[in-house]
Amino acid sequence: MGHSGRERIVQPYSTRRLWPVLILAGMAYGCAAAAFVEDLSELMVRNWPIAGPIVMAHLMALPMVVIGVVLGRQPPPAWRVLLVAVWVVIGLSLGGTAASLVKSEGFGVGMQAYLVPLRVGIVMIAYWAFASLLMLIGWWLARRLFGVPLEQTDPPRYCWVCAYERGQIDPCPECGTPAAAARPPLREAAAWRLARLGATPALALLAVGFAGYAAWRVSVDTLPTLRFVQKFDAERGWTPTYAYIDHIHGADSRGLGGRYLNATGFTRELGDGSGRMILVSYRALVPGDLPVMQVRMCAEATLPLGWPPQGQRMTDWGSPGTIVADLNREQAEQVLKNGVPQGLIDAIVAEADRVGWKPWGGMQSGGTRIEIDPAPHFAVKSNE
Ligand SMILES: [Zn+2]
Repeated sequence: MGHSGRERIVQPYSTRRLWPVLILAGMAYGCAAAAFVEDLSELMVRNWPIAGPIVMAHLMALPMVVIGVVLGRQPPPAWRVLLVAVWVVIGLSLGGTAASLVKSEGFGVGMQAYLVPLRVGIVMIAYWAFASLLMLIGWWLARRLFGVPLEQTDPPRYCWVCAYERGQIDPCPECGTPAAAARPPLREAAAWRLARLGATPALALLAVGFAGYAAWRVSVDTLPTLRFVQKFDAERGWTPTYAYIDHIHGADSRGLGGRYLNATGFTRELGDGSGRMILVSYRALVPGDLPVMQVRMCAEATLPLGWPPQGQRMTDWGSPGTIVADLNREQAEQVLKNGVPQGLIDAIVAEADRVGWKPWGGMQSGGTRIEIDPAPHFAVKSNE
């Protein structure tokens, strides 16, 4: 058998145990996408309106093309790329879900969208088509650039250097390389072997580690958040709302200066015809400098043009400032048990009347932070 000059001899290839490697690769990609890409793309699009989206599209697409190139350097045919994409997309969904869960308030309490199987199915099929296409491009590119891979036989019948099928003739009649001098591309083979050997234990370790982490998050985050949701769902007049826990307001017009975290929230109208509402925000797990619960005055936001009307209720914190009571963990525990003390609500309303609080007329608000001390409205904890 002659050779076309396009073949490249590779180690005997096995597709066995490839799936853990692919799931791991997909998971890394999914984690990165869920953890960073959203923030990064917002930043890039804001700073570079034209170059930003182009760079982002490449960041999203390149890992798939790279997997395609790696596969294209191995013997499997193009149709196998479609199967590979299945494993990568499974990994991508797992990694993306895990990263979103870790970032979410209440460890998944606010993520009902992910629980709708039809929606997940459609998204996964779309990802699969996208990934397959990009991998096929990489696969094709690898064969154009590096030649068509041809598996070495055992014992070796092909010349490692020129791919000539020389059988037992030594040295190679085509290029003159002695059989002993030519070496297989060991580096690539070793990397593949290592990846395949390591991937299953790595997956198992990740699964065990994540299960432990999830158990911890469910106990300290999900369960308290569900208690909060049940408490306010059960009380008349409270409506679920978009909320966050924040610390210091800066001077920017949206009032988003300082630290803030998405939270679970409920509002209740005061019913005095002023449109004023009381908002309770709660996040069981917060960094040390943020309160776990906040009770504040707000109004229903005037939504900007084009805002989806079916979205969650948005809040306007009003002017001349946001009137807020920061609750510590013990006080928050009491709210989970007994609801918001009427005395605290009255104190917030009284302060609003005193400063002439009124809706700001947009979403969130600017202005300063007017703090109400919640301590007098909670039972003093006895030191028993
Ligand atoms: Zn040769």
